[in-house]
Amino acid sequence: MSNSGHPKDAGERRGLMLVISSPSGAGKTTLCRKLMEEFSDIKLSVSATTRPPRPGETDGVDYHFKSREEFRDMIGKREFLEWALVFDNLYGTPRADTERLLETGHDVLFDVDWQGADALHDQMPRDVVSVFILPPSIEALKSRLAAREGSDDEIVERRMRDAKAEMRHWRRYDYAIVNDDLDVAYQRLKRILLVERLKRLRQLSLEDHVRELMGEA
Ligand code: ADP
Ligand code: 5GP
Repeated sequence: MSNSGHPKDAGERRGLMLVISSPSGAGKTTLCRKLMEEFSDIKLSVSATTRPPRPGETDGVDYHFKSREEFRDMIGKREFLEWALVFDNLYGTPRADTERLLETGHDVLFDVDWQGADALHDQMPRDVVSVFILPPSIEALKSRLAAREGSDDEIVERRMRDAKAEMRHWRRYDYAIVNDDLDVAYQRLKRILLVERLKRLRQLSLEDHVRELMGEA
């Protein structure tokens, strides 16, 4: 077992929060899926929402489904790292779940827009590693959107406008990847994850190791 399975050093390494944004259609979902296939110890953050479950959705897997009262109560108790009102429903990232995963050496993946990324960074500046995915060209973005959404020109046009609004914020991120060739983009994302795992602050076990080297253990 190389990179998969439960992390060998669980508890010895603090996990990181991998926050990924992109304009819709640039390939964020595809890249995140590949990462989760290869690294089974990475957990996708499960949000809470007041939206009712869609057919096939499971509580605790797709979302934590809450009533408005429960959600408001959680806001009051500062139980969210960030939350937002989206199309009449409330959505939020539970703080305790993330903290528990980080402490047990798991990396947590967040698929959020630039405002969510900003809010997560504000709350957890040392834990967040942010990556923005860019398309290779406007034509490629349009054809990927058209391929995914079917030939509904109106939806594609609206998504293209939203995409430009999202792309304006790319400078806020630690890393940016142009998703031209999928394999090249994926290798870059993987390298970011692997090198960020080596940050001194995340290697908790090194404190003891160095104490031992110094004869102070
Ligand atoms: P996002 O999550 O950013 O909206 P998706 O991952 O759903 O984007 O990708 C949009 C479409 O583009 C999908 O049909 C996907 O298969 C395709 N796609 C993703 N990356 C590439 C790539 N590098 N080259 C060609 N097509 C891609
Ligand atoms: P859906 O209801 O289709 O699953 O999601 C609707 C929107 O809510 C999507 O744009 C999604 O990105 C956003 N969303 C889902 N979870 C969260 C969250 O925890 N925080 C924020 N800010 N937005 C979220």
